[in-house]
Amino acid sequence: MMERAIPQQESLPPGPGGRPPAVPQLAAQPQVASALAWFGEHAAWITEQQARITAIPAPTFHEADRATALSELLEDAGLRVHRDNAGNVIGELRGAGEDDVVILAAHLDTVFPLGTDVHVQRDGNRLLAPGISDNGAGLAGLAALASAMHAARIQPERTILFVADVGEEGEGNLAGIRAVMDSYRGRIRCVTALDGATADFVTLRALASHRLEVIIQGPGGHSWADFGVPNPVFAAARALVRFSSYRAPESPRTTFNAGRIEGGNSINSIPHEVSVKMDLRSEDAAEIAKMETALREAVAAGVKEEMAAARDLSKGGLEWKIRSLGERPGGSLPEDSLLLAALRGADAYLGIESRPKPASTDANVPLSLGIDAIALGAGGSGGGAHSLREWYDPAGRELGLKRILLTVLAVSGIAPAQK
Ligand SMILES: [Zn+2]
Repeated sequence: MMERAIPQQESLPPGPGGRPPAVPQLAAQPQVASALAWFGEHAAWITEQQARITAIPAPTFHEADRATALSELLEDAGLRVHRDNAGNVIGELRGAGEDDVVILAAHLDTVFPLGTDVHVQRDGNRLLAPGISDNGAGLAGLAALASAMHAARIQPERTILFVADVGEEGEGNLAGIRAVMDSYRGRIRCVTALDGATADFVTLRALASHRLEVIIQGPGGHSWADFGVPNPVFAAARALVRFSSYRAPESPRTTFNAGRIEGGNSINSIPHEVSVKMDLRSEDAAEIAKMETALREAVAAGVKEEMAAARDLSKGGLEWKIRSLGERPGGSLPEDSLLLAALRGADAYLGIESRPKPASTDANVPLSLGIDAIALGAGGSGGGAHSLREWYDPAGRELGLKRILLTVLAVSGIAPAQK
């Protein structure tokens, strides 16, 4: 054949504000094809890394050891890696062109306290361990994506940042991703958060949430000698029973949880204090405000009822307050975003039908700042997130990683090959 085919390493500039390059054309580039094939060729290695990462305890605020492991993996993938003040690990794959950055992030932390047995058991193909999917799958995916791009010698047009961030769960209040948004302010094109398993969901809408601590305090005393003194635990019970029948709307989906109760010193002491940690979420922030009002009313009523039932107020009554533990902003991805077009292109190419799933993830922060962001699973399947029975099955992981690779490269663009 005399006719020259399309040059093999043609540049595919996404063009500012323009459409991302067609995914089939992108996937046909030799370097990209080689990165796509890498996932299947290294399936066992990826699973091994996932098990190793998951077995390093990383409760929120204690991510340092796991961060070191991710730092090494990203360095092995040829990235320039540094740790920022928040404790995030940031690996940079330098772009050839403009100063903009495309961020790929996976959170390091888990909801499981120190002391939880996190060693990984195997049951056939399944891996069993707290945190194995959320976010062992996301972190292994992050390392795999960086390694595949390195092995295939891909140089993007825009810089890609591989971020393993702290403080996504619980009281971390998204501290890690907030810090990243701050340090790269003005340069961030988009954020893709890898959270958990699966390849067919996409989070385009960030759930707003508010986490609160209800604190009720009283004089306390001896269970026998001081009987009749108002009891904060009973007051909390009365308040929670009232609030538990709150009618949260199904649409917009709105939920509440009483997740942790602490307080009291011993079985035969009337407690001085009880604390209840609550998580309120909704697709609509206005519903959260309504729930908070109802919660306040329930606590006020529960405390009042306990005081009315008490026989002895001579040592003092009950006091209560509600403290905010963190607020997650909401937001949603505009229909005409370049990132969404890129994801759709990747899904169409791979035959994936994306189902939207609103969630609360690292994507909340960029979305609330008007920066394009999505959250995706890192492939495979999993279940039992945030429980001790959490599991992960790597079957189909390859598809999920290909989906992420194509989406990210469609947005970052690929630099023309150097001669
Ligand atoms: Zn997660």
